[in-house]
Amino acid sequence: MGETIFSKIIRKEIPADVVLETDTILAFRDINPQAPVHVLIIPKIDIPKVSDLKGCEHAQLLGEMIDVANKLAKEMNISEEGYRLVLNCGPNGGQEVYHLHMHLLGGRQMKWPPG
Ligand code: AMP
Repeated sequence: MGETIFSKIIRKEIPADVVLETDTILAFRDINPQAPVHVLIIPKIDIPKVSDLKGCEHAQLLGEMIDVANKLAKEMNISEEGYRLVLNCGPNGGQEVYHLHMHLLGGRQMKWPPG
């Protein structure tokens, strides 16, 4: 098992501002928000990064993560204006925490290309 700060959040060993929890997924506000809405959506199982995913094995889990993102976007009133979902992978992708996570960002105009 990879041990990260997110593993500790899943086990409730350190606090987080949890906005949604299911049997398989935890969603909590990012500690260093980059937008008015910035939520991290993580699986409870240990998957370090996007490149460890296998479509056939993890399709259900990824679908659940998208469902959670869309549900939270509606609840947080950013659904109409739009939002961005980000999965950073590895050093060049800007990944800092090696437990798979999807960023839900919204509440402001996003720019392209990303930094
Ligand atoms: P990434 O760069 O894609 O790996 O994103 C990791 C994210 O985790 C960053 O946006 C951090 O601000 C966030 N983060 C790190 N520690 C915590 C924490 N204890 N609670 C909430 N978010 C955190």
